[in-house]
Amino acid sequence: MAKLLFNQPSPLETRIVSKNFGLESSETLDVYLANGGFKAFKKAKEMTPEAIIEEVKASSLRGRGGAGFPTGLKWSFVPRTSPKPRVLVINADESEPGTCKDRLLIEYDPHQLIEGILIAGLAVDAHVGYIYIRGEYRYLIEKMDRALEEAYAKGYLGSNVAGTGFKFDLYTHSGAGAYECGEETALLDSLEGKRGIPRMKPPFPAVAGAWGMPTLLNNVETFSAVPSIIRDGGAAFAALGTPKNGGTRLVCISGHVNKPGVYELPLGYPMMKAINEVAGGIPGGKKLKAVVPGGSSCPILKADECDIAMDYDTLAKVGSMLGSGGMVVLDETTDMVRFALRIMRFYQHESCGWCIPCREGTTWLRKILQRFYEGQGRREDISLLGELSKNMLGRTFCALGDAAAMPTISIVEKFTEDFEKYLAKQNKSELVTI
Ligand code: SF4
Repeated sequence: MAKLLFNQPSPLETRIVSKNFGLESSETLDVYLANGGFKAFKKAKEMTPEAIIEEVKASSLRGRGGAGFPTGLKWSFVPRTSPKPRVLVINADESEPGTCKDRLLIEYDPHQLIEGILIAGLAVDAHVGYIYIRGEYRYLIEKMDRALEEAYAKGYLGSNVAGTGFKFDLYTHSGAGAYECGEETALLDSLEGKRGIPRMKPPFPAVAGAWGMPTLLNNVETFSAVPSIIRDGGAAFAALGTPKNGGTRLVCISGHVNKPGVYELPLGYPMMKAINEVAGGIPGGKKLKAVVPGGSSCPILKADECDIAMDYDTLAKVGSMLGSGGMVVLDETTDMVRFALRIMRFYQHESCGWCIPCREGTTWLRKILQRFYEGQGRREDISLLGELSKNMLGRTFCALGDAAAMPTISIVEKFTEDFEKYLAKQNKSELVTI
């Protein structure tokens, strides 16, 4: 896989988790230590587990993988006094189309991630962790393994972390290229060597996760934010964002913008400012047509809905999601039928096939969209797409069914005119043929 270079820092960013990006050899332990690395771990070692969790709660950090669940609350669900050993699992199965930020955290600052994991280990009294990295990120597995080797060699992992007596072992585990394994319980099955399909919940992983042990599972960016929270205090992190939406997050801006890239912005940052100023605006003076706000699973916003703050609650109020931070900007030339087909090909391919509404639903949605795209659509197909999608919503075993249905519903309802254009073109060509 080609090396991804992060964009040049923008003065409009607030760099917390990405503060070391751009430093020479930022991936090495020496550079990490020279820039304040492991001070937070040492501070956390002096705190009680309850105090660490309270600090994370005070930060208003919410899971950066997509669901946005409050991190401190999740940590508090792990039973520290269970006779079973606790396990940490780090979700690096970054597969959501439009999202490419966890790879940068692993590539440019793996020791920040390790420090965040160790602090979580202190909080829930866990002594082992597994970093589950998507199979397509093979080159990153090597980089993460090198960072682990260095941390072991210099005493920042193993039987006496940083001379504190704390024991922690950390391993990488490669996924096999299934989007579905980003779902936490499918990931756990895959980690255990089984086929990666979701589990029935409850029990939740906090109670019975990897190998039936109490398991704390968070995303790479979530763990990476923890050192700064402990070092500078939860309140300082929270103050960067908006109420209940603490701190910053990495936003991957792609599509029709002059400066696509991964930018660290405070929660609540104005979406139009992110597009027009941070990402340099739309090329060629074209108009904005739509925005995918947080990865391809999110309902799409029309241009006139985009004058909003980018935080979990505001996006929810307009019927969409902040998701995994993958923002795709679409200009006025975008063919939304083709865009919907592109998304659906992905979801059909990635459906694990276990439950019928998802397996059959994604197949039929793809077929109908394909028919439209090839100029054989029927007027009734427009409503059929909407009905089919709505029948999938909430009726699938995991969120992949919803992830396929939600963008389709929004495209059909908000961009009906794009489908009408296909019908008009077909009618004209029929006339010509006759
Ligand atoms: Fe598998 Fe799709 Fe059902 Fe999830 S919703 S379990 S991906 S078939």
